[in-house]
Amino acid sequence: MRATPEVPDDGGPAIAGTGIRKDYGDRAVLRGVDLTVGWGEIAVLFGANGAGKTTLLRILAGLTRADAGTTHIAGRPMHRRGNRARRLVGFAGHQTMLYNDLTCRENLAFYARLYGIRDAGGRIDEVLEQATLSDRANRRVRTLSHGMQKRLAMARAILHRPAVLLLDEPESGLDAESVATLGDLLRDWATSGRAALLTTHSAEVGLAWADRSLTLAGGRIESDVAPERSGPAQPTMLQ
Ligand code: ATP
Repeated sequence: MRATPEVPDDGGPAIAGTGIRKDYGDRAVLRGVDLTVGWGEIAVLFGANGAGKTTLLRILAGLTRADAGTTHIAGRPMHRRGNRARRLVGFAGHQTMLYNDLTCRENLAFYARLYGIRDAGGRIDEVLEQATLSDRANRRVRTLSHGMQKRLAMARAILHRPAVLLLDEPESGLDAESVATLGDLLRDWATSGRAALLTTHSAEVGLAWADRSLTLAGGRIESDVAPERSGPAQPTMLQ
């Protein structure tokens, strides 16, 4: 389903990775990861601490270079000259990538300029509302709680209307209401034909959101399950 203008209709699957390898020194973290995420899907990536989830997400986002393999977003290569692919991706990781001395609105205006968004005021209001931060728009980031800063980082990630969201533990540090709001946002995201891949250590949250559940272990995708098609998750998935 490609119901939104930001989903390109000339490419391949939302996310495709083939033979992705990454070593840090003599430690092989990713040993040939193959994965595909389709349009309209929310895929959740599980794995033990140190399994390589963040590394994989950063490679798919074009923020870390793989040692081998190919990565494509909507059929556009990210592994070489990834500019066309990069503008289709919204990424929120462990670092918020926000400026503490700027207000929420100033941070978003800064990123809007980077993304070349014209007349960004209305769009900034929109994402602040989605992040339930409208009443904090003029507060400096350093005065926000950790959870609010995460919500603002999420607003930054969706500001340029990407087609694909890559989120590293997006629910961690959020209160129950914010987790529910994020779940609603992701469901709308998928329903509109876009796609998301996220990591989590919360089996409860992950499986509630997932159309597909992937497990990274031993440097490879060990299991790839569609929970609603296969019944309850097996405990081995939830490391
Ligand atoms: P967690 O669940 O704890 O967040 P993860 O699955 O996201 O872990 P990564 O953060 O991708 O795992 O790390 C995978 C391995 O790569 C770890 O052993 C980590 O120490 C190592 N690693 C990650 N980044 C670097 C780096 N820049 N330099 C050296 N080693 C790194």
